[in-house]
Amino acid sequence: MTTLAARRLLLVHAHPDDESIGTGATMAHYVAAGAQVTLVTCTLGEEGEIHVPALAGLLATEADQLGGYRIAELAAACAALGVADHRFLGGAGRYRDSGMMGLPTNDHPRAFWGADLDTAAGHLVEIMREVRPQVLVTYDPNGFYGHPDHIQAHRVAMRAAELAAAEGVGPAKIYWTAMPKSVLEAGMTTFAESADNPFAGIEHADDLPFGTPDEQIAAQIDGTDQHTAKEAAMRAHATQIPDNSWLYSIAGNFGNEFMGVEYYTLAVGEKGPGVGPYGWEEDLFAGLALDVDPVAAPAGAVRAPVQPGEPTPVVGTSAEAGVR
Ligand SMILES: [Zn+2]
Repeated sequence: MTTLAARRLLLVHAHPDDESIGTGATMAHYVAAGAQVTLVTCTLGEEGEIHVPALAGLLATEADQLGGYRIAELAAACAALGVADHRFLGGAGRYRDSGMMGLPTNDHPRAFWGADLDTAAGHLVEIMREVRPQVLVTYDPNGFYGHPDHIQAHRVAMRAAELAAAEGVGPAKIYWTAMPKSVLEAGMTTFAESADNPFAGIEHADDLPFGTPDEQIAAQIDGTDQHTAKEAAMRAHATQIPDNSWLYSIAGNFGNEFMGVEYYTLAVGEKGPGVGPYGWEEDLFAGLALDVDPVAAPAGAVRAPVQPGEPTPVVGTSAEAGVR
């Protein structure tokens, strides 16, 4: 049996790019700290838009080759984050991007939205048997914002955790990605005068399709020292996130915290010690008795921490994004 790292984190995401946008700083943070980080992506994101004009022919409505292209984008993003263990649920192409809710693509024979729950969960249980994650990260029951594949990723991850627990290999803690209401409100205030205001037209944080009361947040992971890795990972997904996206302009204008700090609610397990008015944990493994002696991380698996204030590298292509 191979030796397991002392801390093992498993993340289940719906499409390539979700890992970088939602949890990129967390992933880079734990890789840098020597933890085993395993990413499972459920679909290839075949139904995504394409923001690179030269690649428009890949569209689902044209050659339908976007999914294959996004495998390489995801590989480059993982390299930028330092994540060496990445898998597609059931293998690449087993489940297809379902598209937005209500579209005919929901009914494609391989659409993840229509996947048999126990079959899909079974693929994830296999990975859990091998990786033995103490911590699982996925979405809340609304898939954070309502996309069918995100909702399905939640269902599959929760079912797999249940099945794995029955075998004694389930995670001790399960977190769901979250955005505190206070952070959204601060963002709305800060960006109100910005030409790049992502909240334009929205009056109250309550009107957004996401947002969690601060007292329900369980963990705040500060990966600000990994913000350049997260940005490089996002830039690796060039078909999905345009170069001139407000994400980058806001990150440039408002600092590392925008990219580097990520939040979670705790769905399963016991909350560990934390800080602040609501006792937010600063570590997803807080309070856990780690069951394996720490082992040296394999060569190349640990990223040198990025120094705050270091200039953000300009990354032009997916291939370059993987260069560290
Ligand atoms: Zn997604």
